Amino acid sequence: SYQVKVADLPATVDSNKLDAEIKAVLNEIDSTMSTYRPESEVMRFNRSKAGDWFSVSPAVAELVAATLKISHETDGALDITVGPLVRLWHFGPKTRADAISPEQITPPSEESIAAARADVGYQKLDVRLEPPALRKQADKLEIDLSSVGEGYAVDRIVAVLEKNGIEDYLVGVAGAVRARGQRTDGKFWRAGVQKPTPDKDALQTTVTLNNAALATAGDYKRYFEFGGRHYSHIIDPSSGRPIDHSLASVTVVADKCVTADAWDTALLVLGSQRGQECAKQHDLAALFISRGEQGGQEFDVQETAAWQKRFPNALKDQPGQ
Ligand code: ADP
Ligand code: MG
Repeated sequence: SYQVKVADLPATVDSNKLDAEIKAVLNEIDSTMSTYRPESEVMRFNRSKAGDWFSVSPAVAELVAATLKISHETDGALDITVGPLVRLWHFGPKTRADAISPEQITPPSEESIAAARADVGYQKLDVRLEPPALRKQADKLEIDLSSVGEGYAVDRIVAVLEKNGIEDYLVGVAGAVRARGQRTDGKFWRAGVQKPTPDKDALQTTVTLNNAALATAGDYKRYFEFGGRHYSHIIDPSSGRPIDHSLASVTVVADKCVTADAWDTALLVLGSQRGQECAKQHDLAALFISRGEQGGQEFDVQETAAWQKRFPNALKDQPGQ
């Protein structure tokens, strides 16, 4: 799902044409990057053999290069080769936990986790920008751009709007948003940060977004429960298992939405302490929400210095505006 709000459409812009342009961009992203489409570039690469360079569109190569940079900077917390583990834990396109009945969902065996881990590793993936291509060092290596796809799509829609001379907009794709300029009422756009619960209307805070993007990764978005435990769709590549710590969500604000969307997943995997250290090191504006020891609705919220600088107190903590 996506939304595009434009406050002041220039007279020269035809809204139907604009709509068609946006849909074309989204279709292009889908047909190159989706893991739900067997014939997408990404899926064809996933089926290909190791060894030779595999030609891809410039956008795929650039996105892969951007994620690999963050993989190196986070010791592999963000790793777009996690596909086999995502599937094993019932979060892949064909093994979606929500597509089968809850009783059928059980954690995989140690052996199957070890086997899937052997097929995962960003170090076994090479990227080249000129001419754009990917290369794998193991036949079974695959890529899954889900962790950054929403943010990337937002940036591409923004590019369409700006090309059309539009300067006051808010664009959102699932949990990722980017906004610039003002709303029709003259106020800045605002984005909410959800409490880490399934209730989409419960907000922890809202922030003003002026020429900035926000993305949130959370362990409450997709998960299954087994034996009283919670298994999230975010996988820690170092263990081969869903993340298992009190940090429930990370929100990142950055200039580009793809940057926010890549870092939110990486920092969530790192956990509260390592995540905050890493965010500080890279001067990221990030908000960390952890569950309290007692559970329930009490959360511990930590902001980085860059977040506080971007959002002075007066603009924070006014849910619903
Ligand atoms: P969401 O908005 O759904 O929470 P995220 O940006 O956090 O999205 O991405 C989650 C998706 O990324 C998962 O569904 C899975 O396909 C993939 N994924 C899971 N763990 C990792 C990881 N450590 N690195 C990269 N991608 C991951
Ligand atoms: Mg993400």
